[in-house]
Amino acid sequence: MKLNYLMPTRLLMGENCLLGQRLFLARLGKKACVITGKHSAKANGAYDDVVEALEANGQGHVLYDGVMNNPTDTCVFEAGKLAKSEGCDFMLAIGGGSPMDAAKAAAVLAVNDISKEEMFNLQFTAALPIAAVPTTAGTGSEVTQYSVLVDTTGPDGKTPHPGGPAKRSMGSPLLFPRCAFLDAQYMKNLSRNITVHTALDALSHAVEGFLCLRANGISDMLAKESIALMGDCFDPLLTFPGSPSEVSPEIREKLLLASTLAGMAIAQSGTAVPHSMGYQFTLNWGTDHGRANGLLMKPFLTLCLNRERADPSIKPRIPALIKALGMDLERFFDIIERLLGTRERAAEAELAEWGALPMKNAANTYIQPTQAEIAALFRAAVG
Ligand code: NAP
Ligand code: ZN
Repeated sequence: MKLNYLMPTRLLMGENCLLGQRLFLARLGKKACVITGKHSAKANGAYDDVVEALEANGQGHVLYDGVMNNPTDTCVFEAGKLAKSEGCDFMLAIGGGSPMDAAKAAAVLAVNDISKEEMFNLQFTAALPIAAVPTTAGTGSEVTQYSVLVDTTGPDGKTPHPGGPAKRSMGSPLLFPRCAFLDAQYMKNLSRNITVHTALDALSHAVEGFLCLRANGISDMLAKESIALMGDCFDPLLTFPGSPSEVSPEIREKLLLASTLAGMAIAQSGTAVPHSMGYQFTLNWGTDHGRANGLLMKPFLTLCLNRERADPSIKPRIPALIKALGMDLERFFDIIERLLGTRERAAEAELAEWGALPMKNAANTYIQPTQAEIAALFRAAVG
């Protein structure tokens, strides 16, 4: 058996862990560049806790709170410039995947005088250390080496990106956060839609991670545990209360841990074809990342099952997935449909265009879907 496993992030989980474990921040340097979105970090108390922890450690900070959903190349260059000009020693991201991914790219740009293409081509050898405080339970970015950005400009970094904005990702061991503070209390007021969509993202990471050629025994173990935890959350997600704060703290914690474990799985395995496909929904319709993956779950698993049955050379993975889910696919699909509600529908021209696009993660998907199958998946999901 061959194995190559790296997960260098220290996980600190529990209520008030930021303040209780603040000394792990003290090791990262004298001054932090705190990266957040526009509102939520201040509203949910995480920013106040970070400031209190930094002050108690005798550390300074500067705030960059300009990260939008699906952060752009322009945004990360701006944040990197600020971190550099302010002489920051480390990045501290508070928020969902968007601020965490922006902080990772800015950590690179703060210490490398490189162009956007050089950044995406991993032409760097250093990055500032990163700490992460996830406030959504979905991306697992707090434990991955990936940063996913929207490239809005051409190779010169100025003119518009040819053919419209594109989602591009980079992966480098330098982007693993040094430490992650997992405190579910920051998610107390996370709305039904963001809670469900981010949960679908975590679930997609676990399910897709399981169906990747790069999966290994450790990523499978993490994915299965994540799926089991998520299984306990389906009912509470389906019966989401009128006020988000009525979701029990135990369920919020389970969702958070499930998301982090799924992130640890994809840090090893990568993701399968739905993740590349879902970017089209996000770029063209603004669909939440997790929902985009959720829309593809049923068509993708159905295709996997059919291919396994038709082709004896494919090593079956679906039976083990069903076992991890603890339910048959029919029941699982019913839960996914109820969580999604009404599906978005694409125009014929969109389906034709997307179905012809090469999908980066197809090669890492255990069934190696053909282009025709990818086109059929788009049609089944949103046709
Ligand atoms: P997000 O884009 O980070 O945040 C979505 C919305 O949730 C924002 O409006 C944000 O508000 C709000 N929000 C965040 N925390 C909140 C809280 N505790 N209470 C209330 N509102 C809150 O969403 P995400 O789904 O977590 O991240 C998606 C991004 O991550 C995408 O760009 C995706 O491609 C990427 N991703 C990365 C990885 C990876 O491994 N790096 C994996 C999967 C996905 P504010 O803007 O005010 O904060
Ligand atoms: Zn994802």
